[in-house]
Amino acid sequence: MKTTGGINAKIRNGTVLVMTAAELKQHIRNGDTITPDDVDVVTTGTFGVMSGTYAVLSIPVAKKKAFFKAERVWLNGVPAVPGPCPNENLGLVDLIVYGTAHANASYGGGHLLRDLVQGNPVDVVVKAEQKTFNASVTLEDLEFARLITTRSAFKNYSALVNPRSRPLNSTIFSVTPMQGRFTEASVSGCGEINPLENDPAMRVIGPGTHILVNGGEGYVMGTGTRSSAGRPNLSFFADLKGMDPDMMGGFITSAGPECLVSCAVPIPVLDNESLSALSVLHEQVPLPVADVADRTPLAVTTYGEVWNGTDPVIRFDPSLCTSCESCAAAARCPTGAITTGPINYHYCVHCGTCTFTCPAHAYHGRLGSLPINPSQKVPVVLRQSSLTHAKRLCERLKHQIMKGEFFLTGPFGE
Ligand code: SF4
Ligand code: SF4
Repeated sequence: MKTTGGINAKIRNGTVLVMTAAELKQHIRNGDTITPDDVDVVTTGTFGVMSGTYAVLSIPVAKKKAFFKAERVWLNGVPAVPGPCPNENLGLVDLIVYGTAHANASYGGGHLLRDLVQGNPVDVVVKAEQKTFNASVTLEDLEFARLITTRSAFKNYSALVNPRSRPLNSTIFSVTPMQGRFTEASVSGCGEINPLENDPAMRVIGPGTHILVNGGEGYVMGTGTRSSAGRPNLSFFADLKGMDPDMMGGFITSAGPECLVSCAVPIPVLDNESLSALSVLHEQVPLPVADVADRTPLAVTTYGEVWNGTDPVIRFDPSLCTSCESCAAAARCPTGAITTGPINYHYCVHCGTCTFTCPAHAYHGRLGSLPINPSQKVPVVLRQSSLTHAKRLCERLKHQIMKGEFFLTGPFGE
């Protein structure tokens, strides 16, 4: 059996063999025989809405003794929780801001964290002793800025549908009101390249595993809240400094702003058991379909319906755009990737909403449909995870390992 120490030595001397999960799956689909001699590390990843996200920030606000202790704080209008350390008379505020907190219906914690990572100035308002203190800070001004997830990168999600006759106007699983009678499905998850899907027994992923979070260096803390053996998820942390703004951000749902997070996890190929787990394909990953209102299971399909034969990238055809007075696609794009017409791919997460909201069908991309019984399929109208982003992060991690810039650590020792 190979060891992670041995693999780290190969990273150091430049002989390590790395594949992305997508590359390995392609070999498997081609019928190629892959052995542990052919690959040392497989990079896995996921990208999507992850509500269980917060950041701990230490923010300089005023001179020492300007105020005794912050009582309330807002960052670009997003309410934050001062503390737990009181920082008496220091003029700075330690605080926690939730990825799901929001200033208004179109700006929340996810947008704020992206703004910080992008280097944009953030307005800080502090209330203390019946006075208001204002500051403008950038990420550079913060000595401590750390993102933490409480539950993220689930091994498996459920697709959600609305079986009732009436639309559901407000849910984090839709962008527009979710229409009833099984006419729309919302999906999350990256199927065969998801980290835990490729290490289902959590043989190598655990406390201390070195990963990329939003493109920056991070570590797994362990499993997250409500994680179970059958439905595990991860809790991880990373410094905001070093993250890639295009790998994170805000996402507007019909229930308000949500937070986009990504991670890439290296899986060392130690033996045939590792490769066996790494061989899972979309069509083998179960995808339960459940009632969006109460999560009652209604059917089970697979991620093959979501990612095989569909288009992971959404494209715009300018020849079809009729230049409406008010662009309906822009109004509903959950990431602000459209102003009018063309897609800004720094923000687009290929969710597919614009393929339905533009009356001229100027955006195209097949999203697939989910069979819920032998005679009925529910069209997918929203993807809350981006396979394209997850694959990009897997590629980035692969190249960092091959260049000797990233080493394996984890609960498995060397
Ligand atoms: S809604 Fe469609 S057709 Fe109208 S301006 Fe936007 S992209 Fe063009
Ligand atoms: S697919 Fe369309 S609606 Fe979705 S993020 Fe991209 S541009 Fe916006």
